[in-house]
Amino acid sequence: MAKEVILSGMQPTGKLHLGNLEGALRYWVQLQNDYEMYCCIVDWHALTSDYDQTSDLVDRIIDIAIDYLSAGLDPERCAIFVQSQVKEHAELHLLFSMITPIPWLERVPSYKEKSVELKLDSYGFLGYPLLQAADILIYKANWVPVGKDQLPHIELTREVARRFNTLYGDVFPEPQGKLSQFSGILGTDNRKMSKSYNNEIGMGESDESTAKKISSMYTDPTKLRLGDPGHPDECPVYLLHIIYNPDHITINQRCCTGKLGCVECKRICAEYTNRALSPIRQKRAELEKDLPYVKKVLSSGADKARAKAQKTMEDVRRAMKLW
Ligand code: SF4
Repeated sequence: MAKEVILSGMQPTGKLHLGNLEGALRYWVQLQNDYEMYCCIVDWHALTSDYDQTSDLVDRIIDIAIDYLSAGLDPERCAIFVQSQVKEHAELHLLFSMITPIPWLERVPSYKEKSVELKLDSYGFLGYPLLQAADILIYKANWVPVGKDQLPHIELTREVARRFNTLYGDVFPEPQGKLSQFSGILGTDNRKMSKSYNNEIGMGESDESTAKKISSMYTDPTKLRLGDPGHPDECPVYLLHIIYNPDHITINQRCCTGKLGCVECKRICAEYTNRALSPIRQKRAELEKDLPYVKKVLSSGADKARAKAQKTMEDVRRAMKLW
């Protein structure tokens, strides 16, 4: 039986952090065993906001590819590739732009928020959820792993697929979002972990730097000293324990009963975090010395993705009765 298809992607913002790893990559690594999987580095999307910062774009793409591979994505089981190396994404985006009403794009929440926050008013920025729809539908994906904030984009993709199918006949499935278990990793300042907030712990960060960042993390503000009972479920350090410390229940109990102080708790947390990340960091260091291999992975991934994308475009042109 043919496997269902998954498309996932990240923007090349540079080295990834624990939020990316635990909120997305680990989940992708599990999914690659059971699905036909396409893992894209969406460099055109990066241009929708950072169009004036292209000088290190290629380096950032390589960094993401290295992080994908060090986290365990296997080029034998999933196509790892760069969006701009499969030009069919752009052709499908163009055709979708002909059938998509502008208000559908204007009502996407992230457009409303970011256009004000980042003062972005370009045509490309308005259309980026549509480019995302093309990224997904060019592979006829059934599933897209996403965080909750991305669900409106999947809904738009479904609407576009439905509109296309109604106008020209059934070509596309209506994909659905797949939520990962840990999509809300918090940064050192208790906001969502993000490079733009400068609160991230990098996947490839050194043990010392990881320990230093964990030691500076926000904790339960009602627990001021050893002896005060804490509320671990409201503490971002405890979330790291849940992920990395197999005995996190003991931490929970000791925190709740005031038997554990935050300084010791963070030291233990850093130890477990560094231990869990050690194989990924080792792999990362090896791959950094073998860039020809990383580029080969991207090139063969693009070949595999392109073959599938070309077939979809044949279906699209036939359905639309184009030349
Ligand atoms: S003891 Fe640990 S879990 Fe409890 S509040 Fe302090 S850092 Fe958080």
